[in-house]
Amino acid sequence: MGKSGLTLEQAREMFIHVSKGMVGSKDLLTQADKAIGDGDHGVGMARGFEAVSEKLEGQTFDALEPMLKTVGMALMTSIGGASGAVFGTLFRGGARRLGARQSFDAEALALMLLDGLDAVKDRGKAQPGDKTMVDALEPAALKSQELASAPLDESLSAVAEAARQGMERTKDMVARVGKAKTLGERALGYPDPGAMSTFLILSLMHDYVTHRGGHPNGSATE
Ligand code: ADP
Ligand code: MG
Repeated sequence: MGKSGLTLEQAREMFIHVSKGMVGSKDLLTQADKAIGDGDHGVGMARGFEAVSEKLEGQTFDALEPMLKTVGMALMTSIGGASGAVFGTLFRGGARRLGARQSFDAEALALMLLDGLDAVKDRGKAQPGDKTMVDALEPAALKSQELASAPLDESLSAVAEAARQGMERTKDMVARVGKAKTLGERALGYPDPGAMSTFLILSLMHDYVTHRGGHPNGSATE
């Protein structure tokens, strides 16, 4: 276990890297939500991940579960609107089976995404095709399950790509959930902002693992 995973300290750094990237994506996400929603998604995610960064920077963790719960709680308590509950639930739900794990490897990623997906669907009741973040998260979670024994960088690369494709497919969907529902066909051609956030989070995780988390096979530097 953990031969190609991140140490707890690297996992903490990875989520700080994700947080800073999400704060930096504020304008992009604002534009996306202005097109088919009320325009608050960028501000909400930036505020949420600012809070995540602050929490993670001031704390060390003895396992992945409390780390992910901290991420989820910070998002949930700092973002208003649908996405606070949705993205908070993704990380809190995703912590469920990680228990005392010390290594963030492809198996931990798969547990996080599969349980996170279940929790989000349970709470938000969105189904695939409803034009929500579920349309990016579900293909990502299924890909992570397929690659649960692969090196972490290999898995994250394919998982982020699956999320990107899922986000692209939301352009062809008419929303059945959330604020874009009232737009009907006018939402066609625009990606769902939450699906965009989901892709960005996974792609920032991949970015950390390839560029900072160690050598190219995703192993920790000694
Ligand atoms: P609000 O909709 O309250 O303005 P945001 O703009 O921050 O909140 O977030 C909107 C995003 O939240 C949507 O793009 C969608 O991906 C996601 N979302 C909304 N409702 C749900 C739901 N029930 N299940 C899953 N995701 C949802
Ligand atoms: Mg909004």
